[in-house]
Amino acid sequence: MFIERRIGQGTNAVELWRCEWENLAGKPAQKVYLEKIGEEQSLIQEAQSSASDVPAICWSYGRTLGNIAVFSQNLLGQFPGGVGDDAELPCDFVDAGKFRHGAERWWCRTHQTHWGIKADHEALDRFGEMRCANHTQLMHYVVSPFTVNVEDHAEVGIWCSMPAALSSVEIRRRAPRIHVHIRQETGAKKSMDGDFHAISLLYNDKSRLFGNKDITRVNITPPSAFEFVCSLELNREMGCINCSHCGYPHLDLGDFAHKPHRKHFCGNCGRDSTWSQAPIVSTPLKPLHDQYLDSLKYEVPNREINLDEYKHCNYTIWASTPAILWTAQRPQELGIHVHVHEGMTRIIDDTFGEVILDGKPLDRSTLIRSMIDRSTT
Ligand SMILES: [Zn+2]
Ligand SMILES: [Zn+2]
Ligand SMILES: [Zn+2]
Ligand SMILES: [Zn+2]
Repeated sequence: MFIERRIGQGTNAVELWRCEWENLAGKPAQKVYLEKIGEEQSLIQEAQSSASDVPAICWSYGRTLGNIAVFSQNLLGQFPGGVGDDAELPCDFVDAGKFRHGAERWWCRTHQTHWGIKADHEALDRFGEMRCANHTQLMHYVVSPFTVNVEDHAEVGIWCSMPAALSSVEIRRRAPRIHVHIRQETGAKKSMDGDFHAISLLYNDKSRLFGNKDITRVNITPPSAFEFVCSLELNREMGCINCSHCGYPHLDLGDFAHKPHRKHFCGNCGRDSTWSQAPIVSTPLKPLHDQYLDSLKYEVPNREINLDEYKHCNYTIWASTPAILWTAQRPQELGIHVHVHEGMTRIIDDTFGEVILDGKPLDRSTLIRSMIDRSTT
């Protein structure tokens, strides 16, 4: 038994069929199509109009690849709530060439794994359906995510929010979130100041950020935002390379995001034929961030605070981190953010150049390390 592709009758879909060679005495062997087992998806997604599509962003921790530059906001899947970590998504197979031993190979874009080894064929026989080895893996999701159209506002700032570095009260470990500031006019009050699980960013494509002009949406997920900020802080060599096979902008996560490398494995087509000139960590957030490089300046605020003068209060301390996206002309403040509470009242909420605690100035990079360590990824 083997699997063959064929064009669907009356459709343009590439169908996957289970086939057999029929050897009848005296006749040449003949290929028999036994049954259709699924449809192969094209590498460039067409807009879908199925009713079960919902605008959603999904992500998963512990992966080394991901897709955040997308053609469409819609995903096919089952989402039990508006936000959660228990989304079930169907496999989404694309042709991925052949295994080294010659067998046909597919790539599941949803669960990021190849299909086509013996165990996969056995499972197909048992369940009558192509499912990848990771298909039961539940994913984090947000339905109808907050969407920012960058061009619509005078100033947009986006950060990766992490747990605090130091506090007089307990600091909970948690997943990174996406923090957003929006101002309609320079100097005006913020019209948005909030934390999100994930957001979708739209921009018009004058700037041609990616190889494919149809990509005008980038989903900022917690793993992609977290790795990007860590790479900025730790000065890892970053870039954004498009897959040599399918043109998709490549996102490194996990181990791949920790170590710059030259050979990149594509999360959209499952091929590893893409080489960068120098070792880099690749992320679509890099060109997005670099669009505003001309006006990118950091400024250490000329303010200090001695927390030893607030012994009767509770405090919480974060190192400010570089923004993922900062469209304002003003410099970003790079310092230490402090909240001080006297009883229930927040009496201090500001970013300082120097913070004294127990008679010693705090070191920003040590604070960053503890924020990274407390982030669950
Ligand atoms: Zn799958
Ligand atoms: Zn590719
Ligand atoms: Zn890579
Ligand atoms: Zn604050």
